[in-house]
Amino acid sequence: MQNLLTPEEIAVQAGAEDLPHRLPAADVFALRAARLRQLADGHAMADFLRFAAHLADAQDTLLRHRTPETRPDDAHLQRCRQHGMPPIGAYDAALPADWAYLLQAIAAEVAPHAPAGLQNALADLADFPRARLDALARDILRTEEHLANAVELALAPLIGASLQVLWTARARALQPADVPAGFEGSQCPACGSHPVASILRIGDGGHGVRYATCSLCATEWHVTRIKCVPCLNTRDIAYQALDGASGNPHPAVKAETCPDCHSSLKIVSMERDPLVDAFADDLATLALDMLVDETGFHRAGRNLFLFTP
Ligand SMILES: [Zn+2]
Ligand SMILES: [Zn+2]
Repeated sequence: MQNLLTPEEIAVQAGAEDLPHRLPAADVFALRAARLRQLADGHAMADFLRFAAHLADAQDTLLRHRTPETRPDDAHLQRCRQHGMPPIGAYDAALPADWAYLLQAIAAEVAPHAPAGLQNALADLADFPRARLDALARDILRTEEHLANAVELALAPLIGASLQVLWTARARALQPADVPAGFEGSQCPACGSHPVASILRIGDGGHGVRYATCSLCATEWHVTRIKCVPCLNTRDIAYQALDGASGNPHPAVKAETCPDCHSSLKIVSMERDPLVDAFADDLATLALDMLVDETGFHRAGRNLFLFTP
């Protein structure tokens, strides 16, 4: 016999599909690694995607073995909720003393799989000035990185991967109610970083629910469909997708373009492919960024495995 649901239970169930945000799961990096390997098969950039999978493997190992982070104190959390401020804000955050240990561990893990250019940089890592590593990490957190040479350019994704482990661990220490809600914005409500892309999830009612995925802490926050995430404009939003000789090679990914701010953010759709991962599918569709760029829109997504000089 089935018990009737109380009105409260019905309300909770109905709300489940429209959660204002989703904190990262313990297996976020493992799922990402698996998706990267799946996308690598037959891909023109297979080596790059397989290397990214090794990076995600290393992140997964570190996240699993890391001592859980301490949840911020109540006064701080309450202040953040009141003012819509990110409780684990990255911009001015102090780096823990052991952050470079994460970097060394990731470097050791991926070294056997690293492309030639990175091998040289990894060989130099032991002698790389610690103060400069700290400065690079802080710059990446502020989206203000100035990579001075080929070694720094090669190391940046590994620094980004280390910071992702740290901030994902911090986000996992939060409880859902700790993250400010009701401030739908262009940046992560948990850490204040930019999105990598957005994801269309399948809600309990079978319809798509859109979230932006944080490039740093992997928290997802609810965003309205057909709305520019960077500037929140809703008018004349359009979409672009890849078009190959035998159809679209990545039918689950499209780019949303905004005529107001001329930016473009990708949407990866679980309705089209239940295994999509915003970060992995973004890396596998750089050709779409080029297509969008040619039509006058700049890439708004930030991917910490991608840096330009
Ligand atoms: Zn975040
Ligand atoms: Zn816009």
